[in-house]
Amino acid sequence: MAVLWLDEIGADDLPRVGGKGASLGELTGADLPVPPGFVVTADSYRAFIEEAGIDDALFEAVDVDVEDSAALSTAAERARELIVETPFPEELREEVLGAYADMEGEPFVAVRSSATAEDLPDASFAGQQETFLNVTDERLLERVRECWASLFTQRAIYYRTKQGFSHDDVDIGVVVQRMVDAEKSGVMFTSHPSTGEATMIVEAAWGLGEAVVSGSVSPDNYVVERESGDVEATVAEKKLLCERDDETGETVEREVPEDKRDERVLSADDIEALVEIGERVEDHYGEPQDVEWAMVGDEVYMLQSRPITTISEADNPPAGGVADLEDAGAGATAPGVTDGSGAVRSESSGSAGTGPATGDLLVDGLGSSPGTASGAARIVTKLDELDKVGEGDVIVTEMTTPDMVPAMKRASGIVTDEGGMTSHAAIVSRELGVPAVVGTTNASRVLEDGQAITIDGEKGTVVAGRDGEDEREPVEEVRPQSPVKPMTATEVKVNVSIPEAASRAAATGADGVGLLRIEHMILSLGQTPAKYIEENGVDAYVTEIVEGVRTVADEFYPRPVRVRTLDAPTDEFRQLEGGEDEPDEHNPMLGYRGVRRSLDRPDVFAHELEAFRRLYGMGYDNVEIMFPLVNDAEDVHALKNCMEEVGIDPGKRRWGVMIETPAAALGVADLAETGIDFASFGTNDLTQYTLAIDRNNERVADRFDELHPSVLRLIGDVIETCREEGVETSICGQAGSRPEMVDFLVEEGVSSISANIDAVRDVQHEVKRVEQKLVLDSIR
Ligand code: PEP
Ligand code: MG
Repeated sequence: MAVLWLDEIGADDLPRVGGKGASLGELTGADLPVPPGFVVTADSYRAFIEEAGIDDALFEAVDVDVEDSAALSTAAERARELIVETPFPEELREEVLGAYADMEGEPFVAVRSSATAEDLPDASFAGQQETFLNVTDERLLERVRECWASLFTQRAIYYRTKQGFSHDDVDIGVVVQRMVDAEKSGVMFTSHPSTGEATMIVEAAWGLGEAVVSGSVSPDNYVVERESGDVEATVAEKKLLCERDDETGETVEREVPEDKRDERVLSADDIEALVEIGERVEDHYGEPQDVEWAMVGDEVYMLQSRPITTISEADNPPAGGVADLEDAGAGATAPGVTDGSGAVRSESSGSAGTGPATGDLLVDGLGSSPGTASGAARIVTKLDELDKVGEGDVIVTEMTTPDMVPAMKRASGIVTDEGGMTSHAAIVSRELGVPAVVGTTNASRVLEDGQAITIDGEKGTVVAGRDGEDEREPVEEVRPQSPVKPMTATEVKVNVSIPEAASRAAATGADGVGLLRIEHMILSLGQTPAKYIEENGVDAYVTEIVEGVRTVADEFYPRPVRVRTLDAPTDEFRQLEGGEDEPDEHNPMLGYRGVRRSLDRPDVFAHELEAFRRLYGMGYDNVEIMFPLVNDAEDVHALKNCMEEVGIDPGKRRWGVMIETPAAALGVADLAETGIDFASFGTNDLTQYTLAIDRNNERVADRFDELHPSVLRLIGDVIETCREEGVETSICGQAGSRPEMVDFLVEEGVSSISANIDAVRDVQHEVKRVEQKLVLDSIR
């Protein structure tokens, strides 16, 4: 049978109807309120490709080297063509349209993919398959075929291959289900997602769930004690909602009328109805669930239910946490995932005084430096307000700058409006071991100066009140527990951006420093280099650099310390005294930074290089020089000349370049010929420039994916060429701290990995694990 109704399906039918279909069938069977519908079975998809005789061609088309992005793109295109251009067999057509005609009132339906291997460990795979809303019989068959074809997107092919799944083993069902024209929708955790207590957490917004998923609105939050019925509501300002346009049938975004923006979405009765359903579904499955729901009038509908463990793992997927919450008429952000939305205010009064943490979510963003911290919020809008940050306060600001580092050291936590995982605030707070939440969009406007808050640098939340004492020992936290360091052939190094973090970095037992960023030293002088030199003389400037580098080089001697020459964008220079004349650039990330600036001002650059010359003269032969943002061999030849001019012999010292632009990656063979000793992947920039995603823009932070196939391909090719040319490779971007990237790099043969201070220990173990696996594989 090509079609099964939801009430004929149970959980065991997963191989026939896919994960989503099986779950909706199971809920229907348990008498839970699921919108009615049917599933075009996975067998139908299989019969479709086999009977049309396109199966062999299909699996052959997608059997490609997935690292070859041109081949991957052709494969996906070919697979799609084969599926969407093959006519529907008459019998199947009749059955599907017949089932639709049997639905009461021939309604608008949601057409949802339901793959049989949806529960692959990688969320980016699950989120790839299509869902179509507001479909009628006119386009139903076309949409079903599109769902089938979505089994063969480039990413799906890539991930399946990488995960070792055969394309032939995955089938796909398609759920066809009555649309719920939701007046309200959202998500609920039937029990507390981390403690498992009988506390239900509900998020709710007006209209269909798309506005929430797309990040254009942030939902109300309700924490419900199931036993007592007590409710704590945090009402968000909801400017937008999604609904179906009556005329076109399309989902459209509309403004929420003024009077409803700040209105609570859920009444006490609504909450009671949700609790009742939440308890039933939890009882049915015997474990806490994450439910997507929608309401029309008093009726509650369930659109999806999954065990909570799945959603809590999905809190930190590689590219955003909402990948698989795209479905029919509902969805919401998981906690800890920035939604890039507007203001959130707490209903239970604006200032929390010094009371205990109430759990009221005030704002959320990206958890960028782990740990929790409580303290008084200090809203810092201008540098001269830094004095007001006392020991143990939480700095709340638009974005941190190098001048704030002394205050950041005093602070117990840091919260910013702007920025992603590679922003200044994220990098420096990790090095200092201070918990941080970045990219909240609005914390500096929503939080009140002096208000007691507790931040969670892992989940990315800021809640009202204090949460006990946090006695923290940043240096001890990173010291390996076991006295035996994992011995790895691939070196594991550490990144340092502020000399003050040197002892913490050295305590990790890392094999050296893979990146010492010099700009934090220079920018924290508070003056542009030119201004500083004008007022204090060249010698003072050179001494500042020498002393900063020495602090780190001493800690690590004789382990190597790779020091990078200045790379700060003009907007950061402009904030310094003397920065008034800095160019006002349209896009500073693409502008006058890195060696572009150095080569344009060889006179100022010479002072930086002079610092290296002095360090060598002092016996710091563990110092290496690294150049940022080079594009080609011409850049490198010019840089060599600069070194020679100040008396550094490139033949005697170890030096190299960062691979941060696709141009550098693609031209690495030419770079290798210039005599570099190493090439180090700056994946923060390489990802930004490959994907055209501004790394500091929180609105696109969920698309910033260092594991994107195109980024990986550039990296893989560079490693291969460098191995042939005898040039060492390394990574010093943030992604070097991610286990998936570590696995990839070790398998590709990278020479070293440089991680954040807090990640070194885990990276050492991960490298060891992958190396052992490679050895075992080679002898098995
Ligand atoms: C990078 O681009 O990955 C890098 C390490 O440099 P920065 O973050 O300082 O630009
Ligand atoms: Mg960079």
